[in-house]
Amino acid sequence: MSGGAVLALDQGTTGSAALVVSADGEVLGRAYSEFAQHFPRPGWVEHDAEEIWRVTARVAREAVSAAGVEVAAVGVTNQRETVVVWDPETLEPLRRAIVWQDRRTSGLCRRLREAGHEEMVRSRTGLLLDPYFSGTKLRWIFEDDPDLARRARSGALAAGTIDSWLVARLTGGAVHATDPTNASRTLLYDLEEGDWNDELLDLMGVPRRILPQIRPSSGDFGVTDGDALGIEVPIGGVAGDQQAALYGQGCWEAGTGKCTYGTGAFLLFNTGTERVSSGHGLLTTAACDARGGPAFALEGSIFVAGAAIQWLRDGLGILEHAARSEEMARSLDGNDGVYLVPAFVGLGAPHWRPDARGTITGLTRGTTRAHLVRAALEAMAYGTREVMHAMERDAGVRAGGLRVDGGAAKNDWLLEFTAGILGLPVTRPEMVETTALGAAGLAGLHGGVWGGPEDFAAALASGRTFQARLAPEEREKLIAGWEAAVGGALEVAAES
Ligand code: ADP
Repeated sequence: MSGGAVLALDQGTTGSAALVVSADGEVLGRAYSEFAQHFPRPGWVEHDAEEIWRVTARVAREAVSAAGVEVAAVGVTNQRETVVVWDPETLEPLRRAIVWQDRRTSGLCRRLREAGHEEMVRSRTGLLLDPYFSGTKLRWIFEDDPDLARRARSGALAAGTIDSWLVARLTGGAVHATDPTNASRTLLYDLEEGDWNDELLDLMGVPRRILPQIRPSSGDFGVTDGDALGIEVPIGGVAGDQQAALYGQGCWEAGTGKCTYGTGAFLLFNTGTERVSSGHGLLTTAACDARGGPAFALEGSIFVAGAAIQWLRDGLGILEHAARSEEMARSLDGNDGVYLVPAFVGLGAPHWRPDARGTITGLTRGTTRAHLVRAALEAMAYGTREVMHAMERDAGVRAGGLRVDGGAAKNDWLLEFTAGILGLPVTRPEMVETTALGAAGLAGLHGGVWGGPEDFAAALASGRTFQARLAPEEREKLIAGWEAAVGGALEVAAES
């Protein structure tokens, strides 16, 4: 082990975090700041890329100064899919960034689907024609602003996801680069070729010359410019947030996976060197192997996870704090047949029913607040099982366990119950900032802070494992109850 410390920049949807992580995995300094969200029209979500840079640079300086040590490498992880266009000379953004949540290209996606492009797009990119991804956002920008389209054709414009924007600013414009995990979210990247694809670029109207070079997630992304952060340090790692978390959870081998329980839940399952296409509506995406080299993963998301707890707290007012949900769930011996299907915005994988809506079933005069709270937590476990099963069937392997993180993973009862429903051990690491840790790992491997992945693995504190303790017949009964509730919700959707 060579030692030293890594500065990890975690540029998220609502804020930027910076952590200085030592070679033994200790956080020596940290800083966080939110930035403004812009909603210019219903369904539109924008960020000011200049503000993102300012805030990120500020928290980076604060974290480094709090740590009081020399930094040997910088790692970047980021909100995925959000697109920025900027002037390659002045490094000024040319318009606001269009955020992953933005739905303005729904009509464009529908037109592309109707024109029969979905199959080609899906087989090359592993994604769907959905506004979520970057490609149609770029096409929209160039259709909306002919001047930017002209600049793009002449090369007087640079485009990329947030990682490449930060790399450009960090290096004072010297490097325009991204990594496969971010590139694989754009609808412009062929997973098999590991490169931008001309047919996809044509479809989205994006000239290749404006896009970043694709470099390995653990690799050379240039050196920070002294004016940018006040330090000149190599940038050695870049990965999208979910893949960085997968890496920071040590899920480097095929068959390992993690779930992040926040507002929604994101499951990623490493499939190693095999690019698995899903028969159950999951996405195929680029991930990292132990050394940050190329690997594939299946990805599935549950739209509403912790948000159901938020709803019970803020919408219904029957829960004081999210954290109280744990003792309320524990206060009951069972769910007494009460199920909450939190299909507030439709059902995602593996059902894919945008028209479904939430239901609560099994109510009696004996139903209490505790039942509803417990049902909301149980729903996260059942949703996890559905996505995990779809992944196992797609990949033809059985998972040996699940690693978890995110705000709702603080809830021990949730993790005990999830282990029981999955019939698998569920492990929560000591250090829950797995996204930043993953970026630190990728950068520190390249920068020699860790001699190899085994050294980095030793720095990942072990945390706590929750064993599966539900009797098989009890598990089957609970799952059957959930499936009946979901069936009911789908029937209502079909009738309305
Ligand atoms: P995000 O990154 O999506 O904003 P976080 O990872 O910060 O989300 O997690 C916040 C979510 O977790 C909220 O939806 C909240 O309701 C839920 N949550 C927080 N603490 C708990 C808890 N102890 N038990 C269950 N849910 C929780």
